[in-house]
Amino acid sequence: MATKIAFHGAARTVTGSKHLLTIGNKQILVDCGMFQGPRELRDRNYEPFPFDPADLDAVILTHAHMDHVGMIPKLIRDGYRGPVYCTRATKGISAISLPDSGRLQEEDAYQDRKRGRDVEPLYDEKDAYAALKSFEAVPYHQFHALPGGAQFQFRSSGHILGSAYAEIFLPNGERVLMTGDLGRYDAPIIKDPETVDWSEYLVIESTYGDRLHPQEDPLEFLHGVLSEVVADGSVLLVPSFAIGRTQELLYFIRMLQIQGRLPRIPIFVDSPMATSTTALYGGAKEEWDEEMTELMQEQYDPIEPEGLQFTRDRNSSKALNSMSGPMVIIAGSGMANGGRIQHHLLHRLGQERTHVLFTGYQAAETLGRRLLEGAPTVQIMGREVEVRAKVDKISSLSAHADQNEIFRFLGGFRQAPKTTFLVHGEPEAQDALAERIRTELGWNVEIPEHGQEFDLG
Ligand SMILES: [Zn+2]
Repeated sequence: MATKIAFHGAARTVTGSKHLLTIGNKQILVDCGMFQGPRELRDRNYEPFPFDPADLDAVILTHAHMDHVGMIPKLIRDGYRGPVYCTRATKGISAISLPDSGRLQEEDAYQDRKRGRDVEPLYDEKDAYAALKSFEAVPYHQFHALPGGAQFQFRSSGHILGSAYAEIFLPNGERVLMTGDLGRYDAPIIKDPETVDWSEYLVIESTYGDRLHPQEDPLEFLHGVLSEVVADGSVLLVPSFAIGRTQELLYFIRMLQIQGRLPRIPIFVDSPMATSTTALYGGAKEEWDEEMTELMQEQYDPIEPEGLQFTRDRNSSKALNSMSGPMVIIAGSGMANGGRIQHHLLHRLGQERTHVLFTGYQAAETLGRRLLEGAPTVQIMGREVEVRAKVDKISSLSAHADQNEIFRFLGGFRQAPKTTFLVHGEPEAQDALAERIRTELGWNVEIPEHGQEFDLG
């Protein structure tokens, strides 16, 4: 039975993951992500799928980030009728983020129409809710049959809650391991990436294939910032990603409290998506690492620091404007280019007793990037604001393995895979990683181009 793999997204770029495995006359799509970032990439979302959704026999999702699941509602609206296999938490997070994405697209289309541009949303909220009915949760480490005599199982990839490698067993006995996004070792809350010792074919991400994360200890850095905030009575604004990063921050704050290094101050999570996701993290026992499990057993809930409050509606979010420090407000979006953090920044950037702490990568042309670059004034919601606040960044938090961590993962293999495919990376990162794998391990590495197909025998 001829087996092929084709890469229809995240090929020489970091978004739009869509990997199509053909086994005989059966087609299995792994991930159906949205292209994000520059216009020319986002435009691809509006093109027809490079395969007929009605012809697919199964879809497997590695995790719930939009660049891996974001196009599922469109796939189903365009004719896909089969199951969407994922872990329980991926289903839970998608149930929050896909309808939210549908709503955002309706809003964007409405704004575009007001500007005279007639752009249809990729899908709306209704499409997203309809799509969720096809999601089927499969437990980790449980073999599940696929059409055409293949099987698969999910294994922890340590990236975010619910993230998994898809380990696919072909009818001829060979394996294809798709890492999805590979997480970090020793990160808080969730389990480390699992060790894999064998797979004939490996499809691995390469986001940080050419870099090492800074060694700075995020707990100590955060302690430094929070000590200043407490001493000055200032307000700490934290633009944060709702899935994963917010929960890590809550964990670090809780650790400082348990260690007696931080007095009780109000901590607001001002993001409906972060609020719902935090509840999922708190309920996903099967995914907690040992430390998280022990602390939970000792009643120390490590993602619920003392003083934590969730603001659900817009009014309670606005009410935070009249409060004074010391306090912490964690709100989306992580790059400050949308979400409730914008009105907090608008209100407080001009005040000296404000501290802004970025917690992740800030893309070019985002408000976050401009603030980090030290802009004296910025535009927010059509208004010009003078920046008097102190602006900082924790640079060591990332949900992706760096080059050494990728090598730690590859080091688990007892034998070289026949082919290792590098996906989900910019060309420089991929070229550097491929070079190191070839010279140090002597493995056969391919870097697929967009749309390229390979025979797997
Ligand atoms: Zn991801």
